[in-house]
Amino acid sequence: MLLGALAGVKSAPDGPGGVLSGGVTGALEGSARPPSILRRMRPPETEPTPDPALFDAVVNLCKRRGFVFPSAEIYGGIRSTYDYGPLGALMLRNVREAWWRSMVQERDDIVPIDAAVLTNPKVWEASGHLAAFTDPLVDCRNCKERWRADQIGDTCPNCGSKDLTEARPFNLMFKTFVGPVEESAAAAYLRPETAQGMFVNFLNVLQTTRKRPPFGIAQTGRAFRNEITPGNFVFRTREFEMMEMEYFVPPAEADAWFEYWCAERLSWYARYGIPEAMLRLRQHDASELSHYSAGTADVEFLYPWGWGELEGIANRTDFDLRAHSEHSGTKLEYFDQTTGEHYMPYVIEPAAGLTRTMMALLLAAYDTDVVAGEDRTVLRLHPRIAPYAVAVLPLSKKETLTPLAREILHTLQRRFVCDYDETQAIGRRYRRQDEIGTPMCVTVDFDSLEDQAATLRDRDSTEQVRVPIADLADTIAHRLDPDLAV
Ligand code: ATP
Repeated sequence: MLLGALAGVKSAPDGPGGVLSGGVTGALEGSARPPSILRRMRPPETEPTPDPALFDAVVNLCKRRGFVFPSAEIYGGIRSTYDYGPLGALMLRNVREAWWRSMVQERDDIVPIDAAVLTNPKVWEASGHLAAFTDPLVDCRNCKERWRADQIGDTCPNCGSKDLTEARPFNLMFKTFVGPVEESAAAAYLRPETAQGMFVNFLNVLQTTRKRPPFGIAQTGRAFRNEITPGNFVFRTREFEMMEMEYFVPPAEADAWFEYWCAERLSWYARYGIPEAMLRLRQHDASELSHYSAGTADVEFLYPWGWGELEGIANRTDFDLRAHSEHSGTKLEYFDQTTGEHYMPYVIEPAAGLTRTMMALLLAAYDTDVVAGEDRTVLRLHPRIAPYAVAVLPLSKKETLTPLAREILHTLQRRFVCDYDETQAIGRRYRRQDEIGTPMCVTVDFDSLEDQAATLRDRDSTEQVRVPIADLADTIAHRLDPDLAV
């Protein structure tokens, strides 16, 4: 009931928060509190078994087909740093776009910003990152590897030595210098999260958009953390991209909005192709909570090595607005004209990793089957997430077919990201597209010259239908996402 009421918020005629400020607040105070999504999202009784072979298969495919390359490979790379290749860049853009669509475009209560990576270091003093963004660190005296003390016992996982240093705190922020001469320049830090840019712009956004709580500020962008133990491919890297949203709410509504965002974010992952059995919500216990949090739940994914975080959703209370008010001397409050009250909103934050999400989507989509007696690898990516929406394939390289095929390509390119491939046998070309997740192929053959139609082939069923060339773009749009076809 509670979630049902909350789910209506987006389309509520009285605007964002209309339902919450009225009916749901009432429902919250009622004695018959409905079961929480957090309790409902227990892990399934029978979990799928993690599959380490899947990890190798996906990492291998990423390199072979141009999703992810080791960074600066010709110089021997740099540990746990990756460059995104042609297909990776397209896929990241699609994941970012899908997040943006649901968080910004389809709502009228969330606005975007794009804040600086380098900012005044006082921001990190106020946020607690300078003092508290640390991991306990130990060095192995034998092999010189460095580890997080809370992740290993008393033995070095690399060489087995027990000769470890005492644990000491290690700040995860990258320090740099702003100005031409290092000695006299001011120290600055690469942001370890995008959230603070949204808190310090709270008043700017309020004044320029005339939003009132509950409302959100969203942004995507790179973040940098000097992780001690990066690894598992792009799961944990020192440079990564985040997709974060800070939702400012009246304090009394914070618990309800926390549940709302947990449900909303879980369903986003399911919508874009992660099977329910590989998704769960795990609530942090008190000992795990960050210094700012009154409640945190992780959306977890079943990685090949077991359950791990995909996104963190936290009730950050008024910690950040209060801290920045105190440190800057500027009161970050909201003035409610209807009640005449000044107050500091609470913040619910869904914080997701773009690069980590891409990896989870690839792991969830990887599949093998047999088509016409031949093994194939297929990425069953959501059509909106796949790097290419469609591939145009002329049946032959003959000059008679090329002009029509290229004309179709140019028409489709106005609406979709397309690939074009005229080399090798058509069966091989279908396999190549299946392996990178292209949901549809348009095959142009000699009949096309006569009947002005082409064959549309579906990646998952391999079914082929004949479609008039004039209808191709609309048919493809509908198949990509019936909700969004225009
Ligand atoms: P973890 O416990 O995995 O270190 P965290 O709790 O520190 O993550 P948050 O600060 O909540 O992570 O960041 C939000 C999201 O950003 C994470 O859920 C994850 O998807 C992503 N993320 C965080 N650190 C990294 C990293 N080093 N590499 C890639 N993605 C990351």
